[in-house]
Amino acid sequence: MKIILNNSSLSKSLRPFSDIGFVPTMGSIHRGHLSLIDISKRACKKTIVSIFVNPKQFNNRKDFMNYPTNIKKDIKILKKTKKVDFLYIPKFKHIYGNNKKSNIKIIKKDKVLCAKYRKGHFEGVLDVMERLTNLVNPKKIFMGEKDYQQYFLIRNYLKNKHKTSIIPCKTIRDKSKIALSSRNNHLDLNGIKKASFLSKSLLKLKRNLVNSKKIKENLKIQIKYLEKLLKIKIEYLELRSIKNLKISNTVKGSRLFVAYYIDKVRLIDNF
Ligand code: AMP
Repeated sequence: MKIILNNSSLSKSLRPFSDIGFVPTMGSIHRGHLSLIDISKRACKKTIVSIFVNPKQFNNRKDFMNYPTNIKKDIKILKKTKKVDFLYIPKFKHIYGNNKKSNIKIIKKDKVLCAKYRKGHFEGVLDVMERLTNLVNPKKIFMGEKDYQQYFLIRNYLKNKHKTSIIPCKTIRDKSKIALSSRNNHLDLNGIKKASFLSKSLLKLKRNLVNSKKIKENLKIQIKYLEKLLKIKIEYLELRSIKNLKISNTVKGSRLFVAYYIDKVRLIDNF
């Protein structure tokens, strides 16, 4: 695994290869990230992982400062997989250079779910992904369905600009059904128990919604129930079509999207 710390080394290292799989991350590597690497390794000749905590996608400075990082541990884990050919760890200047401005705008119909609640977040995500894609020029980019809206917006945004295909990869959960996430590091044992209860409840709810004629009402009741029982705040719980992220009233072709706070930790998932 070659560690790349600047852009000239990046272009030199990648120049000989055309069949490159790319796994962009913000570090704190866990099994969710490793599953994307596995899929890339099987699909492409070379796999490159990036670790970059992009300040421009945080709508809250404190959240950025508190984002869990452990680069030494990440390098050790990635090396051990023997599946990563290149690890790119850029600094801010390598991504943004002298051109920090971007005029990316999320259009009104896409301002749902996290795009509604995290102002500027996806503008920052699309900007950094475009910059990373230009630098790495991968054949395929592997992204987790855990962040389905992120995958959806990046796929649509890059579709007409790059030949790169964006490959969705299924969400990896632990035994207690919690989706693995770097942010889980901020939860204490009680928080983990709550996240697990919520995940199991929503998996069950989705099965029950198949026969429901009153989906909207059911979701409202479920929000109240979970908020009261677990003493958490649910930002949204919505059934939406995976094709266009519009509100859906049938389970088929849809996912149940949730964002919630346990103490001050914001988590997202979909089922
Ligand atoms: P992050 O480091 O959180 O920005 O995530 C980097 C990539 O890993 C994104 O494409 C995420 O969707 C993906 N990812 C994060 N958690 C999981 C998970 N539990 N299962 C599958 N993919 C994941």
